[in-house]
This record gives sequence, structure tokens and C-alpha cells, in this order.
Amino acid sequence: MDFRLSDEQQLLRASVREFAEAEIRPHVMEWDEAQQFAMDLLPKLADLGLMGIQFDEEYGGAGMSAVDYCICIEELARVCPAIALSVAAHNGLCSAHIGMFGSEEQKRTYLPRLIRGEALGAWGLTEAGAGSDAAGMRTTATRRGDGWVLNGAKSFITHGRIGGVMVVIAVTDRTLGHRGISAFVVEHGTAGMSAGKKENKLGMRASDTSEVIFADCQLPASQLLGSEGQGFVNTLQVLDAGRIGIAALSVGLAQGAYEAARDYARERHQFGQPIAAFQAIQWKLADNATRIEAARLLTYRAAYLKDVGVRTTRESSMAKLFASEMAVKAADDCVQIHGGYGFVKDYPAEKYFRDVKLLTIGEGTSEIQRLVIARQLLAQ
Ligand SMILES: Cc1cc2nc3c(=O)[nH]c(=O)nc-3n(C[C@H](O)[C@H](O)[C@H](O)COP(=O)(O)OP(=O)(O)OC[C@H]3O[C@@H](n4cnc5c(N)ncnc54)[C@H](O)[C@@H]3O)c2cc1C
Repeated sequence: MDFRLSDEQQLLRASVREFAEAEIRPHVMEWDEAQQFAMDLLPKLADLGLMGIQFDEEYGGAGMSAVDYCICIEELARVCPAIALSVAAHNGLCSAHIGMFGSEEQKRTYLPRLIRGEALGAWGLTEAGAGSDAAGMRTTATRRGDGWVLNGAKSFITHGRIGGVMVVIAVTDRTLGHRGISAFVVEHGTAGMSAGKKENKLGMRASDTSEVIFADCQLPASQLLGSEGQGFVNTLQVLDAGRIGIAALSVGLAQGAYEAARDYARERHQFGQPIAAFQAIQWKLADNATRIEAARLLTYRAAYLKDVGVRTTRESSMAKLFASEMAVKAADDCVQIHGGYGFVKDYPAEKYFRDVKLLTIGEGTSEIQRLVIARQLLAQ
């Protein structure tokens, strides 16, 4: 066992950190207030390989490992969790679904565009009436001639309005339950597909989220992604990997919040000394630094197991559950250590506090992670 990062991984961390500090940090509040994803960031992210982190070089991808992916997402989240969320949704949901289950033709059609940053990826599972119980979805794909017709609406879709390529999960045969669900690739601008309500969010505001509506949206047969009836099973496999990304995002966000709190505690003086001299503050810093390392280890373990080809349902959920709840505590302590200055927008604490809450909700709530873990434990 070797817990150290390789020289290449250390270099990767340094280069993504340098990029995030130079290209993202100066704009964090401006993008948060605009509530829009900065599309002009796409070519820069693509130049660094961040739009196709784990994809094969033959499609233009950076060919990195799942552990490398965690390092990239962590470093983006340390500076701006919303940008990290967009990069994770693009890589870990839309592109990953196409990469894992697409035909060779679909991979050659879509992955290079996604990886070059010419299209942002979106992935639509959730609906207004079907969140945790995703298999209860109402959106249908009905056969018409050689192709399919989509009808329904997806909610809370990251890049729903601005995604150039979207993977949509829909019911193809309701009588078969979750075995009657299939996935499709839909290109932005396809007739019958339109953006619905843009969400006005608590946090992660620089990552665009909206409803997507399908009204008699006709698709050729070529747009079925994976086998008919396998869409839900494939979705669970996509989420096994995606949740490692949300765990990494949580670790990165917590690291950013911890560093902001530590730096502030050194500068802020009360009772004639830096507040970092008070044991109450030191213990918060020590506890957070320890919990971040524990979450990082769970996350890297899940990523390592994915890299060696092990199914990581339990490990991904454990990493996501622990890291996201740890990050909520880190962001809370960051605000507390800042006192009143943690409550205003001149310091980064309040934004970490707003952004973090998505992490115990998106890609399966904490309750659903516990359910997944318990099922795995009881099945043994
Ligand atoms: C910013 C943002 C971005 C998102 N991006 C995407 C995206 O790109 N694509 C996509 O498909 N979805 C996306 N989502 C949706 C997200 O995955 C869902 O919000 C999430 O899965 C929870 O579903 P829900 O909101 O319907 O909550 P519900 O399922 O209604 O849950 C409400 C509460 O009930 C609890 N609960 C539900 N079932 C159980 C149970 N069996 N046992 C115990 N407790 C339970 C939940 O844990 C939660 O506390 C996004 C959401 C947000 C906020």
C-alpha cells in the first residue's frame, strides 16, 4: 500500500490549483451573482484536459485515472464548488454515460465534441415527481416508425438550458418496471425539446440548473443509448462513479473552507491576540483538518477500486455520504470562525456555506446513500 500521490499526480494538483487560482478565483462572486455558467471558461477547461478527464485519448480525452479525476475536481471545488459541479456533471454523468454504454458510433460522434468543450453535457434523470424514487419517472419514449418520441419533463438539470448534448432517461415499457427504462442522447435544438424554468438557487449559482421539457420530441433509432430496458441499470452504474466525484467535490470544498478559516483565524485579533491562539478555535481547525483527511482517504479508496475494475456501489456511497456531511460541518465552522464577517459577502465563508448544502442532496441524498449502504451490508 502506498498512500502517497505520484510525482505526476502532485504536478496535476499543482497545475489545476494554479489554473483555478488564476482563471476562476477572481470571478467567483461575479459568476455567483450573475447565476450563469461562464461559457467562455470552456475552452480553457478543455485545454487543461478537464472536459474529458477520464476518457480515452482516441476520443481526445486526457486518459486520466479515477484518482486523478478526484484531484482535478477537488482543486476546482476548493476555489469554486459551482464550477466543480458543472465539470463533474459534464464528465461524470453525461459524458460518462456515453463513454460507458454508448456504441462506437455514438462515442465517436459525441465524446470529441464534449471533450473539446464545444458542447457542455447534461444528464436528465430527476423529475418533479421522481427524485429519490427515480424509477417512478413519468417521461416516456414511445416507438414511432424506426425511431422514438419523447414526452415529459426533467427537473433540476445541470446545464438543462445550455447543454449541447443531453442524456435523457425515459420509460420505454411501463409494464416492466425499472427494466422498462432506457436512455437516449438528445442534441440541443432537437425539435420538441425546450428549456423550462431556470432555478433561482441557494448556492452553486454559477452552475446553471433548469427544467427541460419534451413535447413530441422525435429521435431517430440511433439515439437509443445502451440496450433498450437497460437505462436504469446503467444509470445506477453511472451514479456509482458519479458519487465519487461528488465526494471529491466535498473534500475540495471543505479544504477551501478550512483554509479560509485558518487564514482568518491567524489575522483576526480579539482580546489582544489572534483568535487562532484560542483553544476553541484550534480544536475546530484540528477537527476539520482530520475529518477532511478521513474523507479524502474514503474518496481515493473508492476511486482506486474503480480504477482496478471493482464495482464500488458501497464504497462510492460511503465516500459521498461521509465527505458531503463532513463538508457541511467544515463550511459551518468556517462561518463560525469568521463571526459576523462569515455572514457577509466580502469573505468566502458565506458562499461555501450556501454551496455545500447541494452535496448532501445531489446524486442521491444522504438518506438514499444510507439506504444503498445498508442494502449492501444486509445482502452480504
Ligand atoms: C443544484 C442541483 C443540480 C442537480 N442536477 C441534476 C442533474 O444534472 N440531473 C438530474 O437528473 N438531477 C439533478 N438534480 C436532482 C437531484 O439529484 C435530486 O434533487 C435528488 O436526487 C433528490 O430528489 P428530490 O429533490 O426529488 O427529493 P425527494 O426524493 O423528494 O426527497 C425529499 C426528502 O425525502 C427523503 N427521502 C426520499 N426517499 C426516502 C427514503 N426511501 N428513505 C428515507 N428518506 C427518503 C430524501 O432523502 C429527502 O430528505 C440536481 C439537484 C440540484 C438541487
